[in-house]
Amino acid sequence: MVAAKVRGVKIRVLLDGDNVDMNYSKAESLVDNGIPVRHETGAGLMHNKFAVVDDSITLTGSFNWTRAAESANDENLLKIVSPELAAQYAEEFSELWGIAAVFVPAPSPQQETVYVTRTGSKYHRAGCSCLRSSCIPISKSEAIRRGYTPCSRCNP
Ligand SMILES: [Zn+2]
Repeated sequence: MVAAKVRGVKIRVLLDGDNVDMNYSKAESLVDNGIPVRHETGAGLMHNKFAVVDDSITLTGSFNWTRAAESANDENLLKIVSPELAAQYAEEFSELWGIAAVFVPAPSPQQETVYVTRTGSKYHRAGCSCLRSSCIPISKSEAIRRGYTPCSRCNP
């Protein structure tokens, strides 16, 4: 999908809400590569498993679009070439997309905001009792780059 995106193909990915931020999920990688990702928020699983390609091809079946589906599971995936059917699936996708939540990756630990003082050598979490006045927000990665070390009390 990333290769297709690089070629200029318009891609949207809708995932199950319970699994979107699991370690094995590719949601963050897709977003990092400029592919919009949303996830369902309703009760039950997002159990639709289909793709619409070029307004004419529908891929559907039990295939879970996972590594296990490709390498270990017994799955089926039908490729149906029919602009009429593709249009129906595309309409369903648009409805689901419209009510889905935008996936926003959690900030990586290095992007977290920490706090330093003008005179101290440690960086802290917000609210640490070591921070009395003039605490300065800074990214954790920048704090480390500037030579600050983590406070042993608040363990940022
Ligand atoms: Zn602290």
